[in-house]
Amino acid sequence: MEYKRSSELFASAQKVIPGGVNSPVRAFKAVGGDPVFIKKAEGAYLFDEDGNKLIDYINSWGPLILGHAHKPVIDAVIDIAKKGTSFGTPTEIETKIAELAVKMVPNIDKIRMVNSGTEATMSAVRLARGFTGKEKIIKFAGCYHGHSDSFLIQAGSGAVTFGTPNSPGVTQGTAKDTLLAKYNDLASVEALLDANKDDIACIIVEPVPGNMGCIPPANGFLEGLRELCDANNTLLIFDEVMSGFRLAPGGVQERLNVNADIACFGKVIGGGLPVGAFAARNEIMDYLAPVGPVYQAGTLSGNPLAMAAGLAMLTELDNNRGIFESIDKKTKYLHEGMEKALSANNVDFTINRIGSMISVHFGKEPVTDFESAANSAGLGTFNKFFHGMLENGIYIAPSAFETWFISDALSYEDLDTTIKVVDRVAKTL
Ligand code: PMP
Repeated sequence: MEYKRSSELFASAQKVIPGGVNSPVRAFKAVGGDPVFIKKAEGAYLFDEDGNKLIDYINSWGPLILGHAHKPVIDAVIDIAKKGTSFGTPTEIETKIAELAVKMVPNIDKIRMVNSGTEATMSAVRLARGFTGKEKIIKFAGCYHGHSDSFLIQAGSGAVTFGTPNSPGVTQGTAKDTLLAKYNDLASVEALLDANKDDIACIIVEPVPGNMGCIPPANGFLEGLRELCDANNTLLIFDEVMSGFRLAPGGVQERLNVNADIACFGKVIGGGLPVGAFAARNEIMDYLAPVGPVYQAGTLSGNPLAMAAGLAMLTELDNNRGIFESIDKKTKYLHEGMEKALSANNVDFTINRIGSMISVHFGKEPVTDFESAANSAGLGTFNKFFHGMLENGIYIAPSAFETWFISDALSYEDLDTTIKVVDRVAKTL
């Protein structure tokens, strides 16, 4: 496949946009080569500026569970856009999507809309600090919670892909309030809680991390976090920006039956438009302005276009719960097919999967936390694999530290095509 026009566009972009991209992982810096510029997308496919058709396993980094340009979502956006794009006043549709989210997600009474996952997690931590009157937070190495200062400490996703998990620009004062634990290791959390008695406002975790590849929680890990939080008067924040409305209608809280105190959402809740949200029980949410003292705001929060797209998306997920089973089955099929193809070609690999999130690591050892993800990433092999897939029309994330997201628009024929390509590429590794 030729990517000539993409390369030309990238050269122009680099002159006026830092690195030619508005979000770092898009730049292909980790895997080498120039990024693909997309012109349009439909269902399971991306169509690029050179006229190539690609089967998409990124799906805008997760949200497009029903595939690209899904008609009910697009129609809802067009309809509402004709009536105006932003009012800065309350609108009825905000209540409708809030009612639906509160119905779908367990253990929440109220939800506040923001404009990105970053805003959701940043606001959730402020709320946890205000509610508990404590200052420090615990996060896990390799988990990514967006790019606000408190979280760029051993962060995953692009931060680790580019070797800057601790970003310059984050002050020491901020960094000292973020304590780091090891994912899937309750003892590391307990030690921090013991050493910082009465100081920990919250533990924030991707309950199923997707930003160091996909890492399923070990048996009892999330339950253990719940117990530790209860015992220490600390709030448990689930960052469900990737897992929310994907691993179950109610996210990980429902799928694995563990309650969080605050749940954060992004992407999915906006059906692909720029939205995030955070949600909790009344006693916590009523701590927020204008009812309570913790300030949080946004001119475009609850934007009509975003709410219409999100409402169309969530309504379909709520009305057709079979979608969750369908995407899980497709992911399992892909998993089994890739496993066969890679084994037949004697490639060392580990595939992690839960529901419709899956990642391929090029090492034999289990990948259970950031350290094992980094050790097993087989970075050179991954980069070869990535380019082999792209050459053959399969678009996966351009980093070994990301997850593949399966949309229901993918057909079994698409999956078979992908498995054949994996077999072909595996011969070259
Ligand atoms: N939390 C998680 C778990 C994420 O995966 C991401 C983004 N990939 C974010 C937060 C930040 O979301 P956004 O990029 O919308 O700010």
